[in-house]
Amino acid sequence: MSVDFLKQPVQYIGGIGPNRAKVLAESGIRTVGDLLAMVPRRYLDRSSVSRIQDLHGGSESVTVMGTVIAVGTVPGRRGRKRFEIVVEDEPGRRMKAVWFQGVGWISRVIETGHRLALHGKPVRYGGMMSFSHPDFDRVDEQGPSIDTGRIIALYPGTATLQKAGLTSRAFRKVIYELFKEHGRKLGENLPADLVAREDLLEGRVARRAIHFPKSQDELKRAIYRLKFEELFFFQLLLATSRSHKERIEGMVIGSGGRLETRFREEILPFTLTGAQERALEDIARDMQSGRQMNRLLQGDVGSGKTVVAAIAALKVMDAGYQAAVMAPTEILCEQHYRSLGRMLAPLGVRVGLLTGSTSAAERRELLAAVADGSCQLLVGTHAVIQDGVDFHRLALAVVDEQHRFGVLQRATLFEKGERPHMLLMTATPIPRSLALTLYGDLHVSIMRERPPGRQPITTKMVREKERENVYDMMRQEIAKGRQCYVVYPLVEESEKLDLRDAVSGHEALSAQFPDVQVELVHGRMKAAEKEEAMARFASGTSAILVSTTVIEVGVDVPAATFMLIEHAERFGLSQLHQLRGRIGRGQHASTCILMAEYKQSEESRRRLQAMEETDDGFEISEIDMELRGAGDFFGTQQSGLPAFRIADLLTDQAILDTARDAAFALIQEDPTLVAASHQRMKTWFDAFVRQRGIRLSRIG
Ligand code: ADP
Ligand code: MG
Repeated sequence: MSVDFLKQPVQYIGGIGPNRAKVLAESGIRTVGDLLAMVPRRYLDRSSVSRIQDLHGGSESVTVMGTVIAVGTVPGRRGRKRFEIVVEDEPGRRMKAVWFQGVGWISRVIETGHRLALHGKPVRYGGMMSFSHPDFDRVDEQGPSIDTGRIIALYPGTATLQKAGLTSRAFRKVIYELFKEHGRKLGENLPADLVAREDLLEGRVARRAIHFPKSQDELKRAIYRLKFEELFFFQLLLATSRSHKERIEGMVIGSGGRLETRFREEILPFTLTGAQERALEDIARDMQSGRQMNRLLQGDVGSGKTVVAAIAALKVMDAGYQAAVMAPTEILCEQHYRSLGRMLAPLGVRVGLLTGSTSAAERRELLAAVADGSCQLLVGTHAVIQDGVDFHRLALAVVDEQHRFGVLQRATLFEKGERPHMLLMTATPIPRSLALTLYGDLHVSIMRERPPGRQPITTKMVREKERENVYDMMRQEIAKGRQCYVVYPLVEESEKLDLRDAVSGHEALSAQFPDVQVELVHGRMKAAEKEEAMARFASGTSAILVSTTVIEVGVDVPAATFMLIEHAERFGLSQLHQLRGRIGRGQHASTCILMAEYKQSEESRRRLQAMEETDDGFEISEIDMELRGAGDFFGTQQSGLPAFRIADLLTDQAILDTARDAAFALIQEDPTLVAASHQRMKTWFDAFVRQRGIRLSRIG
């Protein structure tokens, strides 16, 4: 059964001419398949519409349906016009809607007499309820009317689409045409036994019902079915990828060799936690299996991942191989280089450091040592190691702070033939649903436990007027020989201002604390300067380190017991948690102060409150996702998270679990999808992968 029709350009569907095709293409809709994958953004039925009479201003969004009885463009200050309309739903019950942007085109598409559905947050303004910049849709005479009990689908209403006349009404028409033409070809694309077992609505019915539901119940089942399908196909991709990887051969690495044993018995200054031992058992099992290891080590900040990586590296050295440790920033690399060097030098292991600032001469020498095997452990930034380093016998690659690289980059690490065991580490606990999606093809070890003897961190949000108290607290800590971090945000959009903040903060603190040395570290400094400042702080020469978020990950100074985070309301929750992880690393109780603006959004208040209440990174990550939504969880960092069309990782955890189980079971039974009963699904699955632009070989 061919699904070639999915690739046909939308232009050949009734109601779409070259003009509309062009506009649709701008929104990423080029083929029948794209159009079919589109999901209404909202539905309208009698029960979801509010009466104007019942409105009261509030933070909740509502939908109102009424007839436009007046329109007008009103001149405002500084020549800025606004467009206003008055809408009536019952005789004498009226409200306003106002637009300050897009006045030109909106005033052309809304006319007196139109029936509109308006969606927004109403406020009372000058005695009348009013929407500002509501979503709007024409819901006219022609076509279905909700008064007859119908449920009407509303579509993404970007300005470009609407300007081109692609209103929801037009979309409904286009999709109606699509079904008229291609509906018959939309058979069931999941295996029949799966559909039966999961009690799913049949594929073709679901695809129709999502646009033209006959009842709320049918709509609910259609949404469930399509969410399931989307998550199932994505998990099928991960299952295929994992099954593929599980067949890749790997170097067989044993355990308990000379170096590892000496390290554990003579050098390690503490006993490993249960979580560390368990992670090492997982790693040992993987590396011994004859297959390539692909393991993610997820551990909260301070859970002690570095030593786990060190022991894994010793295992491969014991077997006569080399290891590489990669980190995203030079500071982190330098720190790994120092701490791994300190741990391993007594064993006679040669550790090398390769970053962007390694001089040409050093680099030549080091590369030669890596190539002939005399350098057994190479630490370096990602880009540098990836870029054509020739190893003598590389058997293990550790990638620290994996989340900073993103899924797609992780794939291209070693494509040149070297197939080392991969140990990915991340200190950012992420919600389970995201982990299953981003790392669903990997084996995962989680370390929730922290090393014993850790002191608690007290976290408190304070206001500017309490600054003097905060400085007093810092003085007391410093008097006891402790050290303090003062952190400023660094947001790309306002980089210059932020930098100025940190620089003037450094001056102010130097004046406040004349007896001690105050360091400044920020991203614009040269690597060498940064390193010197960090080293002075790490050795205890300076008592205060002022920095932008460059210290976010990995820095380890046990005597630092105090952290002041300036403009705390501007940080994301996970980022705040990472920062806080820099303190509470020694034997002393620590304090984290969040200095925040008096006025804040509800969301930032809840973020800071969460910081006060818990320091469990996994709990924090779930709250963070709730506040930001799954898509924004990683902020502006490229996360590699696929864009789901209908599923939502925040709310669809249960569907994800079911879909994942089903997908992995299916791949176990039929790893390369050759069974006759899977062929139809396979064509859809291939189309899914193609359409989403995900290349299998690039995952993992
Ligand atoms: P992270 O997981 O954040 O990378 P690190 O590896 O930097 O954590 O470890 C944090 C600190 O805890 C380091 O100072 C390390 O020496 C110490 N540490 C690690 N494991 C243990 C342990 N089992 N017992 C005591 N201290 C430990
Ligand atoms: Mg670390």
